[in-house]
Amino acid sequence: MIITCPECTSRFALQRESLGVTGRFVRCARCLHIWFQMPADETEPAFTPQPTQNPVSGQLPSLSMDFKPKNRLWTTAMTLSFVSMAVLLALVVKKDWISTTFPQTGVYYQKIL
Ligand SMILES: [Zn+2]
Repeated sequence: MIITCPECTSRFALQRESLGVTGRFVRCARCLHIWFQMPADETEPAFTPQPTQNPVSGQLPSLSMDFKPKNRLWTTAMTLSFVSMAVLLALVVKKDWISTTFPQTGVYYQKIL
């Protein structure tokens, strides 16, 4: 299949299988832009180059597929902060239940709240 960089409109030949079923991040070899590429829709008509035209796939640079997305650290940090906020919120909302169930926590609640 042929994919197009949304940033610089460079086109790349790509094995559909390398995207898997759910797609994956790819990086443009020309402008280094990273985007998530879904495998082409099966209902899309197959790309058939005309014999009279130059086939584009022969001169296309290869895409680099072995890299880690830049935002993985950011995603992890966001997940951790979201979980922390959820725990803190639960501690505040369920204050009465927690202090009744675990009476020893009442001392800490008195200091904090
Ligand atoms: Zn590009």
